[in-house]
Amino acid sequence: MQAALDHRTLYRLPWSLPDNAIAWLEPTMKCNLACEGCYRANVDVHKSLAEVAADLDVFARDRRADGISIAGGDPLTHPQILDIVRLVTRRGWKPILNTNGLALTDELLRELKRVGLAGLTFHIDSKQGRPKWKGKTEQELNALRLEYAERVARVGGIACAFNSTVFEDTLEAVPDLVAWAHAHIDIVHVMVFICFRAAVLEGGFDYYAGGQRVDMGPLAYGEPIPEQRTDISAPEVVAKIRERFPDFEPCAYLNGTEKPDSFKWLLTARLGTRNRIYGYVGPKLIELAQTAHHLTTGRYLAYAAPRVLRSGRSLLWLWPLDRGVRRAAGRALRDPRIAVRRLHLQSIMVIQPIDVLPDGRQNMCDGCPDMTVWNGRLAWSCRLEECLHFGQFVRTVPRERTLPLATEVSS
Ligand code: SF4
Repeated sequence: MQAALDHRTLYRLPWSLPDNAIAWLEPTMKCNLACEGCYRANVDVHKSLAEVAADLDVFARDRRADGISIAGGDPLTHPQILDIVRLVTRRGWKPILNTNGLALTDELLRELKRVGLAGLTFHIDSKQGRPKWKGKTEQELNALRLEYAERVARVGGIACAFNSTVFEDTLEAVPDLVAWAHAHIDIVHVMVFICFRAAVLEGGFDYYAGGQRVDMGPLAYGEPIPEQRTDISAPEVVAKIRERFPDFEPCAYLNGTEKPDSFKWLLTARLGTRNRIYGYVGPKLIELAQTAHHLTTGRYLAYAAPRVLRSGRSLLWLWPLDRGVRRAAGRALRDPRIAVRRLHLQSIMVIQPIDVLPDGRQNMCDGCPDMTVWNGRLAWSCRLEECLHFGQFVRTVPRERTLPLATEVSS
């Protein structure tokens, strides 16, 4: 069994506010599903192309980025989604669509590729109430995930990722999804698990916008979802995965803004074929990849192309630099089948969004990759509803706190 995670032994991803792998564009607030745990209200409003271009201007001014995640709402509901993807491509970013996939036809997929789409992240989980998939378990939904992965693979040249929100009652399913991703390592490039969060309304905190106490109830993440924990942590998800895959070894992370030892984005990368995982890459390889990409392009790497991810064998030459690659190379050398098979690199990311600490401090992702635009400036996409409702992010104040006694001044 692996030791507990220690952030000092992992690579701290170099992403920051002005220089990051990703920025987050929201061209629409409209969605064609209503997922539990979604942090945005579903409103039938699309941004115009001019408004999208203005958001991109803010990114160009304030932030270097390699990829632009195009989200929402569901971006495929936007009638000009092809123009938006084309705009992002022309301005020199990799467009990545974050979608539930419902509106994705094969024809649209080919068109999206033609205008430069670099990656697709499909949000599929059991709390979405999808037509024809209602009541299905996470494991049963793997059939739908595979359908999408195969369609993307048929078109080729587009990175394919899946994310799913992890709830208290779906945590048990995570190892099965990790196993499923391994079985399709040649066409599934990234799996993302996002720990469920919601504003805590009962008992814990009061919320303030400036000096004004505000009601979080009307916000998308203010609606309580009964009997679900809101404190599942990334190490807890890793511990669950390790019950089934004891070797599972994260290599890089983003810490929290308030707690340096918290894992807000926790990355694991593994080398393998459909039959076998040869090993987990270590911190040095990720450092090398991020640094080399930044040195050569001026940007930190987001979403490597599928052709790079399937040439995992070439990474084995880097064995002197990275202990994880060394281990994988040792196993691969002893296995003659590797000479005739491709070795793939696949990432598993666990995201642990905002945590409110007992004293009211908000532990956000330090170097948040998902910064979007609000009122001409960068803003956390996971809390945009606060800006829309209150004109600013809210502060959390513990409801019952014991104030320290004032020191008595004796004469
Ligand atoms: S701060 Fe929010 S939007 Fe940013 S990375 Fe963390 S969860 Fe995502």
